[in-house]
Amino acid sequence: MNFMDYRIVDGASSDHNHDCSSFFGSCSTVEDDDDDHYFIKLNHNNSVSSSTLINSSNSSSVLAMAKNPEMVNWLKFLRRKIHENPELAYEEFETSRLIRTELDRMGVSYRFPLAQTGIRASIGTGDPPFVAIRADMDALPIQEAVEWKHKSKVPGKMHACGHDAHVAMLLGAAKILKTRENCLKGTVILIFQPAEEAGIGAKRMIEDGALENVEAIFAVHISTEHPTSVIGSRPGPLLAGCGFFRAVITGKEGHAGNPHHSVDAILASSAAVISLQNIVSREANPMDSQVVSVASFNGGDNLDVIPESVVLGGTFRAFSNTSFYQLRRRIEEVIVEQARVYKCSAQADFFEGERFYPPTVNDERMNEHVRKVAIDLLGPKNYKVVPPMMGAEDFSFYSEVVPAAFFYIGVRNETLGSIHSGHSPYFTIDENALPIGAAMHAAIAERYLNEHR
Ligand SMILES: [Zn+2]
Ligand SMILES: [Zn+2]
Repeated sequence: MNFMDYRIVDGASSDHNHDCSSFFGSCSTVEDDDDDHYFIKLNHNNSVSSSTLINSSNSSSVLAMAKNPEMVNWLKFLRRKIHENPELAYEEFETSRLIRTELDRMGVSYRFPLAQTGIRASIGTGDPPFVAIRADMDALPIQEAVEWKHKSKVPGKMHACGHDAHVAMLLGAAKILKTRENCLKGTVILIFQPAEEAGIGAKRMIEDGALENVEAIFAVHISTEHPTSVIGSRPGPLLAGCGFFRAVITGKEGHAGNPHHSVDAILASSAAVISLQNIVSREANPMDSQVVSVASFNGGDNLDVIPESVVLGGTFRAFSNTSFYQLRRRIEEVIVEQARVYKCSAQADFFEGERFYPPTVNDERMNEHVRKVAIDLLGPKNYKVVPPMMGAEDFSFYSEVVPAAFFYIGVRNETLGSIHSGHSPYFTIDENALPIGAAMHAAIAERYLNEHR
């Protein structure tokens, strides 16, 4: 089958020239004179026979492309480069630049910037239907504790949630889809977003037009809960809505030996903490999982002075929008009203512009689409229905606008030590999942277009 010519340039080993056969056709390693960047350059002037449009053969072609050794090396290279240079929310300038450089080399057009560093790329006919696949780009303020060759070079910052892998997988999908562009029965939109961990980048991407014309969206997250390359998902609620609160309860400072001269903010705050625990236990349906946790409580530090104010805060979670927004309302009421009982005043902040994530709910049809693609691509043993989790994702903002499905890809490998959960300084992944993630993205998008034109 005739696919394309491509050229691999590896600045680190550019002192030789060779041709080899591969799934892609011919390839050569040649000297790169403009930078030390590793890339695969594709010529997209070849056709794919119409028989490959049949879905099952789509899957095998896509998987074979993803597993091509040159592709695998390139995916690892991208992931490692991003891992070494982690950038926090809305500061993903170099990550975004790297993505745009790769898209330019593939000949993929895009809009930039959205939400400061975000990118909306498109591959296909330019006509409907439009289906989106998404990756997040930001890292975490965590000091990496894993000693390895490609450890973070930035003190105090680390890709401890796998967003480096997400970017690599989405670029891998871009390459596969660009190669198969003349097979696409519509348009694939690739969304690279900033600020998933903080700053609700998804919301700003939507405000800047990321979902324009898009009728469905998909995203993957790596998971150390599942063995490498196993896909996991479920219909309906998958991840909780997650909010945070911080309240200042103010009374009147006074000597602790003469409490009647003070208005005791410690007592008022303590009552508020107890009452907050009654919201879930007394007001929520026991079949509808919810959490309210007070995680911080700070008042005075003098043993004989009742302080003027106490600052307390925590988090709340729920799996439906109704329960989530109800928790938010009741937490504020309980804090303000309990303060009033003790003659104090209270003000609560819910950080709605930066850390406020609705529940991630998978559309049943979109989830079924992911399940079918995963089983076709990887076999039934490599797809699992997973339980809902109390973690949160700003992907939920997309899922509020269009039918959406979010799924996991396993990276757990005990031999490699990829057993620590996300946000651990020991977090690491099995990179063998990268080509599988790229293939999943590409197959999900291409098959969606085939079935929804
Ligand atoms: Zn995270
Ligand atoms: Zn994440």
